[in-house]
Amino acid sequence: MDHPAFVLDDQAQAIDIRLTFDPRQARARPPRADAWAQTCQNTTMQKVAMFFVTALAIGACSGSDSTPAGDSALGPTPTVHRTPIGELPGIDIEAVLAHTKVLSSDEYAGRAPATKGEELTVNYLVGQFKEMGLKPGNTDGTYIQKVPLVGITADPAPLVLRKGSQTVTLKWKDDVVAGTKRVAETVAINDSEMVFVGYGVVAPEYNWDDYKGLDVKGKTLVMLVNDPPVPDPSNSSELDPKMFGGRAMTYYGRWTYKYDIASEKGAAGVFIIHETGPAGYPFDVVQGSWTGEQFDLVAPDKNMGLVAIQGWTSLDQGRKLLSMAGHDFDALKQQAATREFKPVPLGVTASMALRNKLRTSDSQNVLAKIEGRDPTLKDEYVVYTAHWDHLGVGEPVDGDRIYNGAVDNAVGTAGIVEIARAFTKLPEPPRRSILFLAVTAEEQGLLGSGYYAMSPIYPLAKTAAVINIDTLNVHGRTRDLTVVGLGASDLDDYARDAAGEQGRVIRPDAEPEKGFYYRSDHFNFAKQGVPALDPDEGIEFVGKPADFGEKVRGEYTARDYHKPSDVVRSDWDLSGAQEDLKLFLTVGYRVAEADRLPEWKPGNEFRAKREEMLKKQATN
Ligand SMILES: [Zn+2]
Repeated sequence: MDHPAFVLDDQAQAIDIRLTFDPRQARARPPRADAWAQTCQNTTMQKVAMFFVTALAIGACSGSDSTPAGDSALGPTPTVHRTPIGELPGIDIEAVLAHTKVLSSDEYAGRAPATKGEELTVNYLVGQFKEMGLKPGNTDGTYIQKVPLVGITADPAPLVLRKGSQTVTLKWKDDVVAGTKRVAETVAINDSEMVFVGYGVVAPEYNWDDYKGLDVKGKTLVMLVNDPPVPDPSNSSELDPKMFGGRAMTYYGRWTYKYDIASEKGAAGVFIIHETGPAGYPFDVVQGSWTGEQFDLVAPDKNMGLVAIQGWTSLDQGRKLLSMAGHDFDALKQQAATREFKPVPLGVTASMALRNKLRTSDSQNVLAKIEGRDPTLKDEYVVYTAHWDHLGVGEPVDGDRIYNGAVDNAVGTAGIVEIARAFTKLPEPPRRSILFLAVTAEEQGLLGSGYYAMSPIYPLAKTAAVINIDTLNVHGRTRDLTVVGLGASDLDDYARDAAGEQGRVIRPDAEPEKGFYYRSDHFNFAKQGVPALDPDEGIEFVGKPADFGEKVRGEYTARDYHKPSDVVRSDWDLSGAQEDLKLFLTVGYRVAEADRLPEWKPGNEFRAKREEMLKKQATN
């Protein structure tokens, strides 16, 4: 009971609630009815429409020719050396199942970071990669990247607001919750000037800056949750689809973004005013997940570059704070949804001191690589990611305490192992190198991938693309594949292309307002600017009733998601996963062969970061 993993696991679930709007949601998506199932030979015209580049579409059926796309008016898809999907090595799905059974066995104890389960998992993965002849993925000659983790528990403390002689104290948990990422025994803000910065957003692609050049160093920022809800000029009852993704959530809407931008600007503290609608969850979810131990990475500066205190206030207290400053919440909120909004110094100061209990441990990312054959391009990498960790041993459910995590994500980890094996079966390696990166501590907040993106072994500017596998379909073949955040980058075109050759289609996720794209490991790469593909299983199952996809998803969500019953079952059918993995192999292979790197689509929030990164690299 008092095994350290127990504490970790228990907390992990709480933290995961903080990361997901609805922990029971598990990416369930309703079906759509646009099947497209024809073979390569007779679909050239559809492909022209689908891939935008005529030359590419013809290439799809005529072997591995390379055709320059140049500045084709038809679109920016990079030129690809296209070996037809059928000529690429297949995926050994029996091997995927065998790895999954090992990784999700009781012996591996739910694969919690910094436990015996981690040791077994890491050894197993390294063993597999070595055996198939992959090179160490770390430049130090090992297959390991150490990931320093810290658990921080802050003692409850009030937030004290002062204006002249007036003092208001917000009570911990009822009115305010807060924490720190700084690895320090105490952190504090002392009479720090408060500034209301609207949604706290700097978005060059929307010509939007909530700071308007105001120096907020050492100040405490007060922000609204989600992205600015800009009304559609032609229909004020709808959101402008051209601004912040319309109904869809962009990165600017995530609370993590708000703390990140505040840190970048040198602020001392941040408080987000909670609102149930825009947040997508009630304040008690925030209260539940923001108290107790919080896990994080330890950066070389011990996270001292981040804001000292980050927290939330209840809506009620947020309103009171603004009225104490002589402002009206609703009026400010309305202004904040416009480009003209200017930050509002509140004339109120904030004081809060947190005493922290610290617990540090090391975990590990596993990396292995296949070196590219092109003398220059081999310095560029296509990266496959999958999180190897799960929740470990925790609260018993029906007498079972081991959270085996077979779907989440033993099967995805097994998937990248077998994609790696398929790559070794090519007659020659691709032009670019391929990195297989099994990351730790996803369940604690995408920490392993976060560490890699913060301390990359290979420069992110040389990272061509990331393809992330978090769960696989275990219920048979589908006519479709979901691409979360569809339309984000050229990678979606690669996926559409490969799916077409399998007689399948890709579809967007049904709930873009929930921001799923920002909630798995690939996102740590995306937010630094690296184009990243986040595929999810299809929902139209071959030979099954129309509601089958929805039904099996619902069952998994209700019965098994983050529960000890997420185990390998005798009725699993991995034929759909086999096709999906082949598709991921094809996308990665073609990116590794292409003449140009994939790009974010114009208007995407990560495009500017990528351009900046590539420009910097070119001048070095
Ligand atoms: Zn999970």
